[in-house]
Amino acid sequence: MIEIDNVRKSFDSFEVLKGVSMAVEKGEVVSVIGGSGSGKSTMLMCINGLEPINAGKITVDGTEVHAKGTDLNKLRRNIGIVFQQWNAFPHLTVLENTTLALRKVLGKSKAEADEIAKKQLNHVGLGDKLKVYPGKLSGGQQQRMAIARALAMEPKYMLFDEVTSALDPQLVGEVLDTMRLLAKEGMTMIVVTHEMGFAREVSNRVAFFKDGLIHEIGSPSQLFESPERPETAAFLQSVL
Ligand code: ADP
Ligand code: MG
Repeated sequence: MIEIDNVRKSFDSFEVLKGVSMAVEKGEVVSVIGGSGSGKSTMLMCINGLEPINAGKITVDGTEVHAKGTDLNKLRRNIGIVFQQWNAFPHLTVLENTTLALRKVLGKSKAEADEIAKKQLNHVGLGDKLKVYPGKLSGGQQQRMAIARALAMEPKYMLFDEVTSALDPQLVGEVLDTMRLLAKEGMTMIVVTHEMGFAREVSNRVAFFKDGLIHEIGSPSQLFESPERPETAAFLQSVL
């Protein structure tokens, strides 16, 4: 499980996370909603140790992420992360892009890496695009490739950071469907999203971020239908 305990994080003198606490249990899907600049992406970066923290503690399966001596490469193999945009290597095919980390990071043979990558590309519905170059894919297909690439490392956790935000509206659904499938298969996921429908249908819990704090966290029905905090209600009114 992922435990975030009273985490504070500043960039220079600007405090972006002001005491964030939340725990994500195995198999849970937690959606994170909130306005731009509220600290959502920063929290994800802190979870896999891409950013240091100033106070508090994050543990992943009991390993303290920011402790001295933590093997961050090992930790990150357990945490797949997909961003709004991933610049695939344009001169490599979909299959080659998906096998790259398997070969270079995990040291798998070409045959083994190909097998794993094909399985995950099939999983996200790109089984017929193995030899295609990324430039020929739609934005939705590119994001599904990014998901396959992360899944190929067999992570225990997946972090999604607004993975549909840069997509044309008609391409959003196919990416959300892929994430829905992962959720159904029991993947533990933290999903930063503007897709309120997805957050409502797929999440076990939803966390509302504002100004570096989780103002409210609860079941989708609690958060969307009877938010306790006026800040949550105001945010939902602005986006729904
Ligand atoms: P969100 O993902 O909720 O939009 P972010 O976590 O990206 O918010 O950013 C929170 C705040 O931290 C913003 O004010 C942003 O400008 C600032 N910030 C994010 N990353 C950096 C950085 N590397 N250096 C300085 N400020 C940053
Ligand atoms: Mg962000």
